[in-house]
Amino acid sequence: MYNDFKEKINENPPLKSAVLGVETLWINPKHKPFLLADMDLNLGAEDIAEADARLHRFAPFFVRAFPETALTDGLIESPLSAIPNMQGFLEEHYGVHIDGQLLIKLDSHLPIAGSVKARGGIYEILCHTEKLALAHGIIVKNDSYAALCEHSSFFSKYQIHVGSTGNLGLSIGIISAKIGYQVTVHMSREAKAWKKQMLREHGVTVLEYDVDFSAAVTLGRQISEAEENSHFVDDENSTDLFMGYAVAAEWLRAQLELRDITVDDTHPLFVYLPCGVGGAPGGITFGLKHIFGDNVHSFFVEPTQCPSMLFGMASSLHDGISVNDVGLSGITHADGLAVSRPSKLVGKLMDPLLSGIFTISDYLLYNHMRELYATENIFIEPSAAAAFAGPIGLESFLDGRAYIESCKMREHMENATHIVWATGGNLVPSTNREEFLNTYL
Ligand SMILES: *Cc1c(COP(=O)(O)O)cnc(C)c1O
Repeated sequence: MYNDFKEKINENPPLKSAVLGVETLWINPKHKPFLLADMDLNLGAEDIAEADARLHRFAPFFVRAFPETALTDGLIESPLSAIPNMQGFLEEHYGVHIDGQLLIKLDSHLPIAGSVKARGGIYEILCHTEKLALAHGIIVKNDSYAALCEHSSFFSKYQIHVGSTGNLGLSIGIISAKIGYQVTVHMSREAKAWKKQMLREHGVTVLEYDVDFSAAVTLGRQISEAEENSHFVDDENSTDLFMGYAVAAEWLRAQLELRDITVDDTHPLFVYLPCGVGGAPGGITFGLKHIFGDNVHSFFVEPTQCPSMLFGMASSLHDGISVNDVGLSGITHADGLAVSRPSKLVGKLMDPLLSGIFTISDYLLYNHMRELYATENIFIEPSAAAAFAGPIGLESFLDGRAYIESCKMREHMENATHIVWATGGNLVPSTNREEFLNTYL
């Protein structure tokens, strides 16, 4: 299989660029019309609806335990904003024309964890908590779950373990500690000191390893399996995590409606999502496809030194290939995207749904982060700034223009909506913000 892939590399210029660590856009040849894709998927609209209902059952708990969620009635949700100044800046500075309107989805400002991980990570802990609490008669299914706030001594008999490059650990750690669990985060070498410190202040056990994300996950899984009453949050293979991300689409639909933004056959929606192991961008794409079908075009963005999902999908080897196998370092300043081996679960689900994958150089992450801060006064972390490769690259790469033609979207591009999905940044302490803002690679 791997030899087949090596041959493919030479025939496919975008793939060759990715292997060389050069910025590229890879268009997914397995992308299918949604109706056809949906027939083959073993997860569907019912699974998204179930996740949505579960989050609503927990809403009274959130209003009590995390009062900042009262603004969204106990749901963990984020604003959608127009960024006309940034759009104008990008057009002028990078010499591109972005047809239609550029918006930003501010998961960087999600309550509790300040990153997209507040969706999947928290949702998985809620699934586990609901099971335990119902089985032990602590809550009754249609009662208010606010009562969970009084049962931390019950949950303190149970452990949660998770492997993380930082943000997943923050999300799992904060919610688990609040419910009462004993929680251990197994941090890979990318994890920032302030994230470890913040977790320890929440009473979380943080174990630090000088290994990459995949290895930290393996270590965490082994330690968790050796314990009794322990649940391991598996970022590489968890359907629960995935569904927690998928519900984002429903709220986005309402936000677009509120802005009178139409998405239909003549008004395409383009969404650009930073990708690490794939769960967050994959789950969100899955949800969006179920709502907007062929009218949404979803693109991932990965660092040039770590395009693991690109290699996994392009080779069909999924988690059977790592970026190190093709000679890339896997090392990137985008700590949230520093995942050398993609999720198998997500790659397979994305085969018929994803439009393509961009790669971006690390120095541009800092530039886009600064540009957004300067033009719109919005701070996001470098990993999140990767999303801007999408609106800049869609029309600059030949394959992007060919994609637009192949979808017969050219004449409708002036009606397009482009959403960059900002995935993190709000919890970054001010000294680290200063440091980021002054980093030039
Ligand atoms: C985790 C993360 C992502 C990507 O999510 P995956 O599920 O790992 O693909 C993107 N941006 C930030 C800031 C993250 O923390």
